Amino acid sequence: MSLTSLHALDDYDPDSMPVEQAQRIIQQHLHPIPETECVPLRDALHRVLVVGIHSPVNVPPHDNSAMDGYAFRHTDHAALKIVGHAFAGHPYTGRVEVGTCIRIMTGAPIPDGCDTVVMQEHTRREDDNLIIERMPKPGQNIRRCGEDITERTLILPQGTWIQAAELGLLASLGFDRVEVVRKLRVALLSTGDEIRQPGEPLTAGQIYDSNRYSLYGMLQPMNVEIIDLPSIADDRDSLRQGFLDAARQADVVITSGGVSVGEADFIKALLAEIGEVVFWKIAMKPGRPLAFGKLGSAYFFGLPGNPVAVMVTFRQFVQAALRRLMGLPARTPVALSAVCTEAIRKIPGRTEFQRGILTREASGQWTVRTTGAQGSGILSSMSKANCFIVLPAEAGNIASGVNVEVQPFDQGEHAPFWLEAS
Ligand code: AMP
Ligand code: MG
Repeated sequence: MSLTSLHALDDYDPDSMPVEQAQRIIQQHLHPIPETECVPLRDALHRVLVVGIHSPVNVPPHDNSAMDGYAFRHTDHAALKIVGHAFAGHPYTGRVEVGTCIRIMTGAPIPDGCDTVVMQEHTRREDDNLIIERMPKPGQNIRRCGEDITERTLILPQGTWIQAAELGLLASLGFDRVEVVRKLRVALLSTGDEIRQPGEPLTAGQIYDSNRYSLYGMLQPMNVEIIDLPSIADDRDSLRQGFLDAARQADVVITSGGVSVGEADFIKALLAEIGEVVFWKIAMKPGRPLAFGKLGSAYFFGLPGNPVAVMVTFRQFVQAALRRLMGLPARTPVALSAVCTEAIRKIPGRTEFQRGILTREASGQWTVRTTGAQGSGILSSMSKANCFIVLPAEAGNIASGVNVEVQPFDQGEHAPFWLEAS
């Protein structure tokens, strides 16, 4: 369904859109970028794997010794002649005959004719002769060919986010190049007559552009190509020019500001003219106004201007959207339950994302308190917080001592707080 025909849905209300419904609609309208590239192994770090990797080899590639000791045939005698040695990287190439053994070091291949390794601590040497004082079990102290990875098994599924372990794993299989999804190109622009860049002098009524930097900070760990565009004044022609210019260069355009009531009417008309963009009032706090749609072939996210609202809407809507465009699997943040140690005032009707400080008490109990004042311009609240306290839309005032849901921050790709989406 096209975005502009959404109003045909029974429960569609752009003036009071539940958070989950907006998340769902956004996900339904995204198509992962199809372009891929083959990059040298190191450059595959923090990129997304295009096709699943099946192991071309067994790891380890041969039976090898798990100990420093002696390799022999278990059915043989306990007194054996030492006829050679095998080190890691320097195998013994001959066959080990009855009545003989070889000195073997950890990692060295087990030679023909041997089936067991005895650790050196359980033996005694007399010149070239070995006396086994404690007989190991048959087959003991041998790491089997393929016991870590068997040839042709799926090692890394399609859509894997490649991190340190995956890079090492790919190297262990001999891959020197990897097919990954092309980097997503994300254009950032701020709107507003009052916005100045850090380093510039401020005159009356002007403020510094913090949104560009908090967005940059949230995008950078996703390893996208950030296209940092000049900010745009609240002027129809400049906005049209700036938006079209951004859409030409990027897969995704993220703007901040200019989507709240009043201003929206003006940008709404402009975006209707040059793209397909819907404007929602999300039933959430902070972050009520949100625009989503397409400008040419680029996806468009018009975030609100307030600095906290920008971070909350990025985390709740844009991050998952970028993940999908990059070909990463869907996932949902874990909702931890924590005891709220203070009363919170809340009016039913909107989902609130309060900034919280989550603590694990000595008893093992998780508790949470707010960072204090929760205004949507108070960016220091994001800096003090380590979680969102998520208060559901229908909830009213929260009494001290009750359980609330929290979403911990720093939910990096391998952090413990993510679950696969069900
Ligand atoms: P707007 O959505 O444009 O009405 O902006 C809402 C509030 O956020 C206003 O107080 C703006 O001054 C502020 N704001 C907008 N853009 C930015 C920005 N890039 N950095 C910091 N504050 C901003
Ligand atoms: Mg503005």
